[in-house]
Amino acid sequence: MHGLLWLLLLVATIGSVSYLRLKLINATIAIAAVMLIGTFTGITGLFSWILFLAIALPLNMESFRRQNITLPILKIYKKIMPEMSRTEQEAINAGTVWWDGEIFSGKPDWQKLHSIPQPRLTPEEQAFLDGPVDEACRMLDEWQVNHKLADLPPELWQFLKDNKFFAMIIKKEYGGLQFSSYAQSRVLQKLSAKGAVLSSTVGVPNSLGPGELLQHYGTPEQQNHYLPRLAEGLEIPCFALTSPDAGSDAGAIPDSGIVCKGTFEGKEVLGMKLTFNKRYITLAPVATVVGLAFKLYDPEHLLGEEENLGITCALIPADTKGLEIGNRHFPLNVPFQNGPVRGKDIFVPLDFIIGGADMAGQGWRMLVECLSVGRCITLPSNSAGGSKTVAMATGAYARIRRQFKLPIGKMEGIEEMMARIGGNTYLMDAVTSMSTMGVDLGEKPSVIGAICKYHLTEKARNVMEAAMDIHGGKGIMLGPNNYLGRGYQSIPIGITVEGANILTRNMMIYGQGAMRCHPYVLKELYAANNNDRAESLKEFDQALFGHIGFAISNVFRALWLSLTGAIFAKAPFSDETAGYYRSMERFSTNLALLSDVSMGVLGGELKRRERLSARLGDMLSYIYLASTVLKRFDDEGRQQEDLPLMHWAMQDSLHKLEIAQEELLQNFPSNALGMLLKVLVSPFGKKYKRPSDALDHQIAKILQTPGTSRNRLIQGQYLTREEGNVIGQMEQTLEDVIACEPLYDKICKAANERFYFTQLDELAKKGLELGVINQQEAELLTRTEIGRLQAINVDDFSPEELMVEKPKSPKAPAKKAPAKKKATVKKATDSES
Ligand SMILES: Cc1cc2nc3c(=O)[nH]c(=O)nc-3n(C[C@H](O)[C@H](O)[C@H](O)COP(=O)(O)OP(=O)(O)OC[C@H]3O[C@@H](n4cnc5c(N)ncnc54)[C@H](O)[C@@H]3O)c2cc1C
Repeated sequence: MHGLLWLLLLVATIGSVSYLRLKLINATIAIAAVMLIGTFTGITGLFSWILFLAIALPLNMESFRRQNITLPILKIYKKIMPEMSRTEQEAINAGTVWWDGEIFSGKPDWQKLHSIPQPRLTPEEQAFLDGPVDEACRMLDEWQVNHKLADLPPELWQFLKDNKFFAMIIKKEYGGLQFSSYAQSRVLQKLSAKGAVLSSTVGVPNSLGPGELLQHYGTPEQQNHYLPRLAEGLEIPCFALTSPDAGSDAGAIPDSGIVCKGTFEGKEVLGMKLTFNKRYITLAPVATVVGLAFKLYDPEHLLGEEENLGITCALIPADTKGLEIGNRHFPLNVPFQNGPVRGKDIFVPLDFIIGGADMAGQGWRMLVECLSVGRCITLPSNSAGGSKTVAMATGAYARIRRQFKLPIGKMEGIEEMMARIGGNTYLMDAVTSMSTMGVDLGEKPSVIGAICKYHLTEKARNVMEAAMDIHGGKGIMLGPNNYLGRGYQSIPIGITVEGANILTRNMMIYGQGAMRCHPYVLKELYAANNNDRAESLKEFDQALFGHIGFAISNVFRALWLSLTGAIFAKAPFSDETAGYYRSMERFSTNLALLSDVSMGVLGGELKRRERLSARLGDMLSYIYLASTVLKRFDDEGRQQEDLPLMHWAMQDSLHKLEIAQEELLQNFPSNALGMLLKVLVSPFGKKYKRPSDALDHQIAKILQTPGTSRNRLIQGQYLTREEGNVIGQMEQTLEDVIACEPLYDKICKAANERFYFTQLDELAKKGLELGVINQQEAELLTRTEIGRLQAINVDDFSPEELMVEKPKSPKAPAKKAPAKKKATVKKATDSES
């Protein structure tokens, strides 16, 4: 009996020191104390002590341990570790680890999360959003842009240049706006509500491109020449990396530059002959300066020893002789400027390299560093902004549109879709706020950037599909009155650019995350590659034993947290969010454990087992997304009205997290190991359910009811209720419809008949006749009918209007369609009426 108790004490002690992650020496002392208790109670004898000392002494005697344990392991490690390509190495080195590192620690420090400052706009940034950004939205007629001009109108281009929309990232000393990343995100969010053409035209020059590259790596001459001109809108930049044979695998571009002497502007200079074929380049057709990525070769050794210098970035003026530019692609009927750029044997001086000849071969590092920041801003902001507007419009539409004598928003099937829109939108805005704050704090969060890019563009797709389904035919019929169709069409663009999503999920998130965020993996790799053998051994020893302790700790922590449902884990709040913090600590531990086991079992092969890597990446991602939700809820003052949104976003994330974990284990390379791990991390099976129908109902209600919670959800969007802003006008109609509902009930009651909620102008007359409403109320009903029809009607066109080539023959039908500026408001075509 005593023996069993002692054994339990020993296991509990090992478990506790592991759970608490005590240092090796302290853990040894604690276990030695248990051994002593065993000796005094006559349980442990000489053999037990010999065994204990045989393990404890070599581990605690550092120099002995290094030579006899670590060195042989280091030798094996060097043999089995796969070679890292230069591009992979540069990708790993570029960027910093931030909250993603905490997630990987298996024990996130929630105080750290909540001490990240809440992002705020400066008065200047706020004024820009309220002034020029609103005005740009006002000036844009999406139908004209998409259907008639296939471009922004010239006056809007000029307005954007004059107001420095293309210079948000450029420093004030060069005449730019120098906005924070958060402010840039808010600008893009607002613009995205008016369509992808506007938001991508503004987004691209402020993202990865000449402006960003010049500021970080340009020579003073290049900076002084280009940056003020970019700020003033005198130059329009584009950046050309993608080639027909190198899309996702951008490091494989065949485009080349050969270092040679040549004549430039009448003088002989050292330069390079460029040959390239680029496609899909945003802004290329209107660009005045092309940022170009190519591989630089120096066969004549004019620059030094190396022949193959690697990827290099240069700035080429668009009027350079031989540069073929100006043609346009037609990206899914969303006609922002995008096209190919080609050139053959174009000679330019070496000074055209961004950063000068010294930066030859540094292009990949430059691109990856800038991308890690850009991926947190442009596409996530467009996705979040678009979703906010869609949430607002869909909520209003679902309340206005009636079928079966009910607002469609009251139907349970629609509620499910509405909840998806509302919950995801709440989360997306939380993600953009926290991630851009990270960038503003000086981080280059490459892993978080990949998470933001992938998950927010996917969520935007999800939101958009739900909104389209809710709108039915109204979303499908294009025309000035349609605020959804073009956004829906543009979704695959965000999915494809800046790292196509399948690649981003399957390779990038976890591929980089495992290396960068794991507390020991990169340290081991660097230590093994250290050429100083003594230092290498010392560093590898520290990393290896840190790693082993970490892994053992995670086994005990995972078991304890899953057996107890993590109820003893710490949470910074004791309200309804506490359980979420605890669950996330549990999943964070599981992620750390499953990562180690996966890397241990598969080694370098894990990189090729993309689907396993994707599920580990999903776990990392959902913990990050959920963290931003808890942060948002706290930053906004823990608003009780927002609880449904917060709960939905958390429950959906935890549910998906658990599915990712489950699928990982189901598909684990070894069945037995998969089952063993399941016992450790999920002994009682699945726990986290998707949000309930009741919760969906609450969110559907929030979206359809003007109020503070809805306002917070859609804050910052272009809402002015004016002619031309269909969504702004819908907001007015929503309020009017709600105000009309009691009048409608009164009239129905007085007439003793349940009317359709249509032809409200006629209903107004009836109400006056019955004497149950006054003149003012009748006017409200009449006005609401106009708005209601505007909200539900769609456009129609004469056949000629839709033809690109108008009939040439004089005999051809010349039926002239009536000029249509706005949506045709003829009569209610509803089945109701
Ligand atoms: C509208 C638009 C604007 C663009 N603007 C620019 C620009 O301004 N400048 C510029 O240089 N480029 C630009 N691009 C190019 C863009 O970055 C590429 O389209 C993108 O990198 C994907 O390349 P691809 O289209 O050739 O697809 P491919 O590389 O052929 O990929 C096809 C599919 O395979 C998947 N895939 C590839 N490798 C893997 C892998 N290892 N594991 C799993 N899946 C994988 C991808 O995710 C994708 O789904 C733009 C593209 C578009 C469509």
